[in-house]
Amino acid sequence: MEHRLDLAGLEEHELEQALAGRGQPRFHARQIFQWIHKRGVTDPEAMTDLGRDLRRQLSDEFDLLTPEVLRREQSSDGTTKFLLRLADGKQIESVYIPDTPAQTFCISTQVGCAMRCAFCLTGKMGIDRNLTAGEIAGQVRVLARELGMLDTRFNIVLMGMGEPLHNYEATMKALRILADEHGLAVSPRRVTLSTVGVLPALEKLATEPVMPNLAISLHSTTEEQRDLLVPINRKYGLKELLDACRRFPVKRRERITFEYVMLDGVNDTPEDARRLVRLLHGIRGKVNLLPLNEAAGIPFTRPSDDRVNRFARILADHGVTVSVRKSRGRDIRAACGQLITESARTDSPGKRLATLMSAGR
Ligand code: SAH
Repeated sequence: MEHRLDLAGLEEHELEQALAGRGQPRFHARQIFQWIHKRGVTDPEAMTDLGRDLRRQLSDEFDLLTPEVLRREQSSDGTTKFLLRLADGKQIESVYIPDTPAQTFCISTQVGCAMRCAFCLTGKMGIDRNLTAGEIAGQVRVLARELGMLDTRFNIVLMGMGEPLHNYEATMKALRILADEHGLAVSPRRVTLSTVGVLPALEKLATEPVMPNLAISLHSTTEEQRDLLVPINRKYGLKELLDACRRFPVKRRERITFEYVMLDGVNDTPEDARRLVRLLHGIRGKVNLLPLNEAAGIPFTRPSDDRVNRFARILADHGVTVSVRKSRGRDIRAACGQLITESARTDSPGKRLATLMSAGR
């Protein structure tokens, strides 16, 4: 493909440079940025306060890429899942979760995911490619426009498809675009980045001037078991990860969230709970329990509410703040770990589905 800059993937200062390099005044950058990110315009021709020549030049010399909504499905609980098509035909999913009590967009950072966590359907896809900054931020723009929320306050969680710290530069750039006061102006304080703990990237994140809230997908309390459930643990182990969390510059009154998927009879015993208490000692953290969302091809079951509550009680009794994630949108496969699209492999969708189903037996 011919290399054209995507207007939607440029920060305001980069837009200025691109204009200056083409003999245009830099000040138009702000107008263009506002049209794209604040008003959701997808065609330079609609930027009516720009001269005709500049509009033509933008159309001729740049792309303005906007993910296209292929399908929109609404759950009985109001959660809405969007199937989006990218410029090269690849597909991703993004989810709107209302009233948590905030309004939340759950967005993807990659087509598929390379982490292959044992209980996650997205991991079954493998990785196809990274999303660009424009595609990551573009999901928010598209969902907000579709839902009439361009002027509404909302939160963003990087908990869709992909591992954000495995696509670090594009993810951080997307967060800067989203934070820009001339665009959607989503403060990083309203953004949560969830990661399995890609350590070099996590160390880098710790030095960023603007930083999202951090959620760590812990899921296990021993190296041996985490090696199996979250395979990247073989490279960046639990102990190192928790040491990095201990050093992480957590802002005043804030905490790191530790996500812990609960798998019946696997990691949900009272011993696990007590080990978790010990592991988190000295870390400004809280625990979010995620009772497994079951799916065909995922060889685990969801524990009973009693088991979940017993686990939560042990944490609470030892002074660890704990919450249980209420699963949203399960009826439309929009819940955690259930996002999967069929563009990632060259196999036909039917064949891939058959593979997933047989893995479930
Ligand atoms: N790659 C990032 C963000 C994506 S997933 C990460 O792993 O943190 C967001 C959360 O959903 C993660 O904690 C993930 O482990 C969890 N999850 C994955 N599959 C799940 C499932 N089947 N049921 C419940 N939670 C799941």
